[in-house]
Amino acid sequence: MKTYNLNSADIFKGSLILVNKMHPINKSTDTNKLIGLNQNKNILLERKTAACFMRLINELKCERKIMPISGYRSYDEQKKIYDDSLSSNGIEFTQKYVALPDCSEHQTGLAIDVAKNSDKINFICPDFPNSGICAEFNKKASEYGFIQRYTKEKENITGISCEPWHFRYVGIPHAHIINKNNFCLEEYLIFIKEFKYQKKHLKININNNEIELFYIDCKRNERIDLDNVDLLDISGNNEDGFIASVLRSGK
Ligand SMILES: [Zn+2]
Repeated sequence: MKTYNLNSADIFKGSLILVNKMHPINKSTDTNKLIGLNQNKNILLERKTAACFMRLINELKCERKIMPISGYRSYDEQKKIYDDSLSSNGIEFTQKYVALPDCSEHQTGLAIDVAKNSDKINFICPDFPNSGICAEFNKKASEYGFIQRYTKEKENITGISCEPWHFRYVGIPHAHIINKNNFCLEEYLIFIKEFKYQKKHLKININNNEIELFYIDCKRNERIDLDNVDLLDISGNNEDGFIASVLRSGK
């Protein structure tokens, strides 16, 4: 049995933090943990997100067909994009497609916008059709921990119009469940709360590995005790607790 201590300040960190109009960023991203992408060193992502993105691009051999166009943004960069869009596109368009400063996933380093390569790329609404290599990318993304964050179907929940080009890293088991159940991130974070620590945990199987997932209410638990853990990943939800995923080998 091993004890893992939890720090309530960490609920604002991790690959599952919810960032939207109702849940602004609480903790600024550690820019030392960002790395540049092979295709464009100026586009930065959180380390693990970057690694998974580059593996996905490599597997599809699409480094000349799909271009990363925006990754991590600072508060000031997000504010500039918002203000520029307001003056050139107006309020209605901007509210649909551009998040307010501190409400953008791009400030976390966990989100990336991609475009189908062409001579003219629109940087706010890039072309990313549901066909050819872009459709393949979308289909494969969850195996590398990414979800298409804003779909047409969930516009009323996410508050953002459909963005086929915006992918969010959440981690492999979570992306798997989100896709399988057709959730958006908001829905998944409510769903996972049904599986509380020390009650019934959610068990899924990916590539013959059994992964156990559960929610930890940070008001009730300052630590968790687990046995036979091979790999433990804990992320805050940016609200009230943590989501843990546990991989075990022998019992
Ligand atoms: Zn985006």
